[in-house]
Amino acid sequence: MTDDVVGYEQRGAVAVITLQRPPVNALGQPLRQGIKDRLVEALADGAVQAIVLVGSGRGFSGGADITEFGKTPQAPHLREVIEVAELGSKPVVAAIHGMALGGGYELPLGCHYRIATPTARVGQPEVKLGIIPGAGGTQRLPRLIGIEPALDVIVAGDPVPAPKALELGMIDAIVEGADLTAEAVAYAEGLLSDGKGPRVTRDLTDKIGTADEVAAAFERSRQMIARRARGMRAPEACVEAVEAAITQSFDDGMAKERELFLECVQSDQSAAQRHAFFAEREVAKIPDVPADTPTRTIETAAVLGAGTMGGGIAMNFANAGIPVQVLESSQEALDRGLDLVRKNYAGSVSRGRMTQEKMDAAVGQITGTLDYADIKDADIVIEAVFENMDIKKEVFAKLDATCKAESILATNTSTLDVNEIAAATGRPDKVIGTHFFSPANVMLLLENVRGAASSDETIQTVMQLSKRINKVGVLVGVCYGFVGNRMLHAYSREANFLIEEGALPQQIDKVIYDFGLPMGPFAMGDMAGLDVGWRIRQERAKTHPSNQRYSSIGDRLCEMGRFGQKTSAGWYKYAEGSRTPEPDPEVEELIIGTAKELGIERRDLSDQEILERCMYPLINEGAKILEEGIAMRPVDIDIIWIYGYGFPVYRGGPMFYADLIGTKTVYDVMQRLHETHGELLKPAPLLERLAKDGKGFYDA
Ligand code: NAD
Repeated sequence: MTDDVVGYEQRGAVAVITLQRPPVNALGQPLRQGIKDRLVEALADGAVQAIVLVGSGRGFSGGADITEFGKTPQAPHLREVIEVAELGSKPVVAAIHGMALGGGYELPLGCHYRIATPTARVGQPEVKLGIIPGAGGTQRLPRLIGIEPALDVIVAGDPVPAPKALELGMIDAIVEGADLTAEAVAYAEGLLSDGKGPRVTRDLTDKIGTADEVAAAFERSRQMIARRARGMRAPEACVEAVEAAITQSFDDGMAKERELFLECVQSDQSAAQRHAFFAEREVAKIPDVPADTPTRTIETAAVLGAGTMGGGIAMNFANAGIPVQVLESSQEALDRGLDLVRKNYAGSVSRGRMTQEKMDAAVGQITGTLDYADIKDADIVIEAVFENMDIKKEVFAKLDATCKAESILATNTSTLDVNEIAAATGRPDKVIGTHFFSPANVMLLLENVRGAASSDETIQTVMQLSKRINKVGVLVGVCYGFVGNRMLHAYSREANFLIEEGALPQQIDKVIYDFGLPMGPFAMGDMAGLDVGWRIRQERAKTHPSNQRYSSIGDRLCEMGRFGQKTSAGWYKYAEGSRTPEPDPEVEELIIGTAKELGIERRDLSDQEILERCMYPLINEGAKILEEGIAMRPVDIDIIWIYGYGFPVYRGGPMFYADLIGTKTVYDVMQRLHETHGELLKPAPLLERLAKDGKGFYDA
């Protein structure tokens, strides 16, 4: 059995052990057993003087077999396998191509020498799954490369490209030859002829800095965590494990690593992050659209409108190397839009996030026009003009008349009916929604909205295109607000009622921030512009007069000219040129006055009550969306919220979070809220069913 997953051959005095478990040599039990057996065999064989470990297929090893998580671990553990290599009497060389990540890099760390191809990437990405390296990574890496770089690699979790890895000392050499195994054998022979024996990582001490240097490194790492990984346990656990590497013996440090690893791997946070990892892959698969559906090649694109969204959308295409034309209604608007795009790029260059060369290449992909005839051959057109049905229909009729028959016509509308827009064309099968989030060049989510007539080909093409332009595409159906904003609406509606009932914006925003979102609903409203929602409500009131009840305070702020950050006043006030919200007594007065007018007796609200009142209606709306088939699966909702709204990945998205706390808990609170506050908070039938059956959204 192990012969299938591990190859073994002897070349002269060098034994070559090949990991061969496609697709990524995940270190599941059979592979661990095979490597250990072959190491033992090679160490015992008098004709073998050195050993090479190499991977077949796409890389050395992608790390642990994640499907083993949560099950009783089967011997031999990776730690044991690594120990056999490290403590053996013969030099062991790890030869890395593709990737050596997680456990897949901890194994080379326990080898005595590491060589890699120029394109290989190595690292410890465990933290991204809410865990820490568990097979000695936190103990060996600091000894090999020093505390500060080891902290950077382990706490950030980003894979390190070979040239950088060489600079840091994570690998000893880069080899250029096409036959890595031959290179590795030659390297091992070189060691033998130079009389170099095993170099045991656990015994290295020369890279550990002075006490002061070390203290500064830990301090810096903790500051980085506070900024970038707020609320997450695993990054801090990584730091604690690395601390043990300098304050304790190797064996005690390994014990500490194990303890921290177990704490993390059994945590809800890690379960949520692993869920999110798989969910992101899952959303790319559309159950009713076969994966082998033929797609259209997208070689050129056009964007209509160079406003807030259009410019950012065009940048995505340019960044992906797809030439894109931007069409505007006037030269002035076009110039303004393209100028902003250039300024955006220049900002990235000045912040060191992009090279001038890359900027020039991207800007070179974007051209402006006022003439529909210029965009007639575009493979896809994305419309981002004003949010007005009459204008959209007119634009789509014109596009339909001008563009080649194969062009896909997409709309970036956030509230309008994609089917009605499609009906303005003679090719509704080629019409689809592509709902970008603002800022469109930054936000990773792309809510792709399938119309009733959108063809499989159109859907599949746009889902694949999403990936190509570096977005996470999620397919949803047509309804008001689609998935994300419809759920957001339920949440901000309740947040607004809460301030009538007794809370203040700053209290609610703090609860939501502490829960893990980047900001609460009021700070977010000020950032996006309160007038946006105000105008939408006014429009909606015309077409849907029986519109749902909502708190009027937001409208009153707009009537006072308080549109948010752009007017230095909204739910908060802002010092000139500042984006830092400050509580405003004038707003508090307005809130208290409004409550009085409405005859509401304000009361103190606990943080827990606020959290439940905001989050549970959001989940409840998600349940309705699932029932209506607007979202196909709970994963689609979770990914939308993680990538579109900054829902904390360590809570797994709203539907996963609901399962964690229990659908019964959510249902019971909704039931109580329904009794107190009426129809808007009625529990969704799906939520009720799940709660009564003792099931979660992911069991349904
Ligand atoms: P915007 O007002 O900033 O820009 C619209 C642009 O379209 C303007 O530059 C205008 O000159 C141009 N335009 C108008 N009519 C045109 C026509 N007939 N032909 C060509 N250009 C025309 O608006 P925006 O915020 O960029 O929104 C655009 C679309 O994106 C809307 O449908 C909106 O609902 C949607 N959307 C906006 C956001 C957001 O946060 N702003 C987010 C998601 C989706």
